[in-house]
Amino acid sequence: MINLVFFGPPGSGKGTQAEIISHAMELKHISTGDIFRNNIKNNTELGVMAKSYMNEGKLVPDELTINLLSKELDSYNFAKGFIFDGFPRTLIQAESFDILLNEKQMPISFVFSLELGEDILVNRLLKRGVVSGRSDDKDEDIIRNRIKIYNKQTSLLKDYYINRIGESFIKINGDQDIDIISKEILLNIKRR
Ligand code: AMP
Repeated sequence: MINLVFFGPPGSGKGTQAEIISHAMELKHISTGDIFRNNIKNNTELGVMAKSYMNEGKLVPDELTINLLSKELDSYNFAKGFIFDGFPRTLIQAESFDILLNEKQMPISFVFSLELGEDILVNRLLKRGVVSGRSDDKDEDIIRNRIKIYNKQTSLLKDYYINRIGESFIKINGDQDIDIISKEILLNIKRR
């Protein structure tokens, strides 16, 4: 089983790479952001709860997010492996995730950390907002707030994973062509 975590700030290309690599390796792609957006579209109870946080560029509360992830994992019991895109995003999520993966005997194979400077991220997200229609990509203040939250609550998980998995935490320069990044990710997976 191969389990990958795609890690990085908003706009770093996690979703794009998760999509490509999940197809190339037949892994189940789990994006907590996509699941929340689908729930908002379908007006579910979860969607109603998540919407106000997402629209302001804030994180959805941990308990809600962890429960969602846990249910999602249960519903794909027979997958060859998973790509986690946008989860975990806080220390509490990472710790709960460890417990969950341990129970399921599903070790993390690699964490790929896509690294990029803030100004490039803001420009990318503003451009994406024009085509994606995502409300959290349209306003520069909300975008900067998401990056601020990433720096405050999420980026510390780099040290957490370096301590946990050592060399299987792999930094990738996110400011390269999409296919070059995909090749670099695939090469790292195949090398081991
Ligand atoms: P993303 O599609 O990964 O950029 O996520 C979009 C939004 O969904 C985030 O700004 C959060 O509001 C929410 N979200 C997605 N994943 C998480 C998570 N792991 N923890 C908390 N909120 C999340």
